[in-house]
Amino acid sequence: MASNAISLRGVTVSYGQGPALDGIDLDIAAGATTAVLGANGAGKTTALNVIAGILKPTAGRIVDSTGAEVKGRTGIIRPGVAMSPEGRKLFGQMTVEENLLLGAYGLRDPRPNKDKMAEIFDMFPRVAERRRQAAGTLSGGEQQMVAIGRALMREPDLLLLDEPTLGLSPRIAGIVADMIARIAADGLTVVLVEQDAAVALALAKRAYVLVNGRIGISGEARDMDPREILNTYFETDARSGAQTT
Ligand code: ATP
Repeated sequence: MASNAISLRGVTVSYGQGPALDGIDLDIAAGATTAVLGANGAGKTTALNVIAGILKPTAGRIVDSTGAEVKGRTGIIRPGVAMSPEGRKLFGQMTVEENLLLGAYGLRDPRPNKDKMAEIFDMFPRVAERRRQAAGTLSGGEQQMVAIGRALMREPDLLLLDEPTLGLSPRIAGIVADMIARIAADGLTVVLVEQDAAVALALAKRAYVLVNGRIGISGEARDMDPREILNTYFETDARSGAQTT
């Protein structure tokens, strides 16, 4: 069986009120794509931030393939990990090239940056054509490619993608999904947070569906039906009794 790059064990995160994550166990298989699905507010980004090391769980542990606890400094992404955040968070006034370079900021040896950037431009030709353009002037899909490219500039062992197809038309979402498939085909460990179950299940080996901070279901992605997942786990607000304003 393939080993896990990282695992969450009994992880709970409380921001103050009820827990955003409630004692979850989650395995991220090395060299594969793991999908984390769920409706708005299910806890997907919280899980991703815990995996990244940005957020310290209120309870529970994060362990590596040997079972050793992985420690991090709160607020700082762990070495070897890169994230493309929800909403892309590009610097709109800066050029595409400048945004990409920011991805490699703080890496010890800046020289390979040029090679890595060339690789990213090869991967995303539409982005390459717009390299000197302000990132804010690009289309949503192109901006998403820059955000993924910026994460790849860190040359991560673990790539975290938070809702990469959010707000994109189905056609453009398909293009972005194909690119993620190509990136993952190189054996990179990827965690893909998505609301689009069909896209995520097509890309992932294993999937977890979060429902109000708990795992509603998990399993091999090929055994899961996106429509059933949507109907069963996305439609209902299982946080029974919770009031939303
Ligand atoms: P979305 O798809 O809308 O981004 P999500 O599944 O990623 O949702 P999270 O962003 O992890 O969900 O949020 C889970 C719960 O924790 C929500 O109820 C949210 O309001 C709450 N939450 C998230 N971040 C904070 C925070 N910094 N402070 C307080 N509550 C938070």
